[in-house]
Amino acid sequence: MPELPEVESVVRGLRDDVVGCSFTCFETTWPRQIRPYTPKAFASRLVGQRIITLGRRAKYIVFTLSDDVLFVHLKMTGRLYIKEKWPDEDDTYVRARFGLDDGNELLFSDMRKFGRIQLVADAEEITGSLGPEPLSDSFTLDDFRDRLTQRQGTIKPLLMNQQFVAGVGNIYADESLWLARIDPRRKADTLNSEEIERLYDAIRKVLEAGIAREGASVNWYRKPDGTTGSQQNYFYVYDQVDKPCPRCGSLVHKIRLGQRGTHFCPTCQV
Ligand SMILES: [Zn+2]
Repeated sequence: MPELPEVESVVRGLRDDVVGCSFTCFETTWPRQIRPYTPKAFASRLVGQRIITLGRRAKYIVFTLSDDVLFVHLKMTGRLYIKEKWPDEDDTYVRARFGLDDGNELLFSDMRKFGRIQLVADAEEITGSLGPEPLSDSFTLDDFRDRLTQRQGTIKPLLMNQQFVAGVGNIYADESLWLARIDPRRKADTLNSEEIERLYDAIRKVLEAGIAREGASVNWYRKPDGTTGSQQNYFYVYDQVDKPCPRCGSLVHKIRLGQRGTHFCPTCQV
């Protein structure tokens, strides 16, 4: 699933093409993705609204419109792009089309059909329960420490909990725990002060690196111009099972943790 760096890269790749445009039409072949609206009701509310800004919150792409806020969640296999700029003309997974008043079309493609498109008057309806943005200035070490010491769960699933911290998923949780030299099976309330600080720094560092490399194209994720990001070429442990740990040379292990594949070094993550 695309995580913070991938979603941020989609936003950056689309922003210049959509901000300032108004929607002229909307159609979908998969109405479940716009529930509770019907396609007709969704289109009639959306059409005519202008895109004021394009941003990101957690793993959501956020269009601030003249009246409402439009959220797109890519989930497993979503892709959002301008038709005229996408290299493959025969994308058979296009589920929704947004007409723009500059003549272009914004397409939402989604092979697995888990993606969501939501239109709300108040963004808080969607974002109200989300945790802090890990790269924002307001997310401080003290804030992270406070939040962490109130939790008793296992650290890896906690990092992926969007109410705890927004935007981190399986890839960047594994990578940040490796960088912080923390075993993903540790209980959150057993981390000492130094480990908490290392983890805080590591989360920010791996997310920033992911953004700088325009995301990790391990499976379905592509930028809005159809090209891949490059973070997958720089993984420490994610998807590196039985390869040497870049720090100590031990072989990277993979286990199931919180129902997710989890990669770590059994020697230097303690
Ligand atoms: Zn190691």
